[in-house]
Amino acid sequence: MNDINTAHAETTARRLDVIIVGAGFGGMYAVYKFREMGLAIQGFEAGGNVGGVWYWNRYPGARVDLPSIDYSFAFSREIEQEWTWKEQFAAQPELLEYINFVADRLDLRKHIQFNTRVTSAVWIEARKLWRVTTDRGDVCEAPYCIMATGPLSIPKDPEIPGIARFKGELMRAAKWPHHPVSFAGKRVGIIGTGSTGIQIIQEIGPKCGELFVFQRTPSFTMPMRNENLEPGYVAEVKRNYASIREAALNSAVGGVRPQSTRAFFTVTPKQRQVLLEASWQQGGLAMLGTFADLLTNEEANEHVAEFVRGKIGEIVKDPVTAEALKPRGYPIFARRPCLDNTYYETFNLPTVHLKNCLNDKIVEITEKGVRLESGEVELDMLILATGYDGLTGALLAFDVVGRDGRTINQEWKAGARSHLGLMMEGFPNLFMTTGPTGPAALANIIRISEHDVDWIANAMVHMEKHHLAAMEPTVEAEDRWMELVATLAQRTLVSKAKTWYVGANVEGKAQGLTLFTGGFHRYREYCRIAAEGGYQDFTFEPAGELVPA
Ligand code: NAP
Repeated sequence: MNDINTAHAETTARRLDVIIVGAGFGGMYAVYKFREMGLAIQGFEAGGNVGGVWYWNRYPGARVDLPSIDYSFAFSREIEQEWTWKEQFAAQPELLEYINFVADRLDLRKHIQFNTRVTSAVWIEARKLWRVTTDRGDVCEAPYCIMATGPLSIPKDPEIPGIARFKGELMRAAKWPHHPVSFAGKRVGIIGTGSTGIQIIQEIGPKCGELFVFQRTPSFTMPMRNENLEPGYVAEVKRNYASIREAALNSAVGGVRPQSTRAFFTVTPKQRQVLLEASWQQGGLAMLGTFADLLTNEEANEHVAEFVRGKIGEIVKDPVTAEALKPRGYPIFARRPCLDNTYYETFNLPTVHLKNCLNDKIVEITEKGVRLESGEVELDMLILATGYDGLTGALLAFDVVGRDGRTINQEWKAGARSHLGLMMEGFPNLFMTTGPTGPAALANIIRISEHDVDWIANAMVHMEKHHLAAMEPTVEAEDRWMELVATLAQRTLVSKAKTWYVGANVEGKAQGLTLFTGGFHRYREYCRIAAEGGYQDFTFEPAGELVPA
């Protein structure tokens, strides 16, 4: 493959300064940032437009579970003032409208080639360049390559035999059609009860003829208590954006959320109950911020889990269904905590049926529906909301070949490795935004993306200033970072659930929590020290004499 690309590139490669893969939040900001630095850039995006997950995930009920005010770009004071959020937690159409507003306002699209999948990125050592090829025959070369490919961009079908056999409508949450879909009078089945499934179920439950929810592991979900934003509140936010952003940068989650220094067992059981009830009424992720030790103290965590199970029991009328919906066997918040509006209430509808696939396993998908151990459920439509090959999937989906022919596929066989979630030893000038071993899934992805792009830009400026051609972390620095990530992971309960965070949802994938669990604020500090300390964790090669093309 190397040889073929080399031969091709000698005649057709387009020379650039920076190649950016992906046009979600990270890719969009990278395009803007590097263009403003006066660099020749080219973005590639598999989707037909900007937006990343929000371009693809058009399923009914799709909505962000962070406040819109936080879940928005912070780099442009003008955009902050010009855009007005309508809902506290924006739905996908509003998010996509915002994303397109930003792309128009900054004229970003002309730098991005859409409907184009990158098929390989190969480091050409002799010329200190990345050569990137696409499925549309493009060949580009640039000294810098930015993988803004996102932690959740490769959707995953379940390992259930027979999916292709199903003769009804087969829908995938992450590749939802752009046209309206009708559920009226249909027997609809859905597999998957994570954040995505929960949003779909509460939205379509009342609209289907009948809805069959095939649940393996129940999730904990708490009331979102979404509301329209009042003009007075929005004006106040717009006046205070600078301090809101500052607070987000200095928080563990990259957003303004309730946080507490209070340990669970320092207050009486009665007070705990009062605090938990107040947080349930407040909604959003208030509960996670009620006590400081919910992700480290298993016993405290179990008390909160039991509180939520109690709520499920109060809402869901049928005791068997309620019991099946109560998550057990893993700590609350160890899976992504979901926020809902009417999820549990949906199971009180006579047309909504919970199939507990822990007791009654899915055997296969048939032409007509889903066969459980107890028999076949006939369906007109089957929805798959079965998650993603998270964190690493996008980068493992094509050939990324670094120094000496080393590939990411080989390097990550035993689990993802990187330094600061940004770079890998052996892959000079290849940068990731929201990469594995950074805080990716555990903090506001837009704050992380902006931080990462700014860090990369500063590294490039450093290289240009000192006439350096190639940069990569040392093995020792990467080892130290991996050790820190592993040590922190052992202290949190996040690694104690079988989730995409730990690779448990993908057969044969290396298991382990390759996320930085120390908080976004501390992550920023590590990255700042790495740069301001003179990039001592990195090796550089002088520009010198490069072999011409
Ligand atoms: P997910 O959390 O990984 O959930 C996948 C679901 O599919 C799980 O319930 C899983 O059950 C089920 N499943 C997979 N294979 C199955 C099989 N063979 N048989 C039965 N069930 C099977 O995926 P997701 O819901 O798409 O969410 C992924 C992430 O996207 C979230 O954690 C969140 O970070 C993000 N997200 C965010 C929002 C938001 O902002 N509101 C919305 C949607 C998604 P098991 O658990 O038993 O494997």
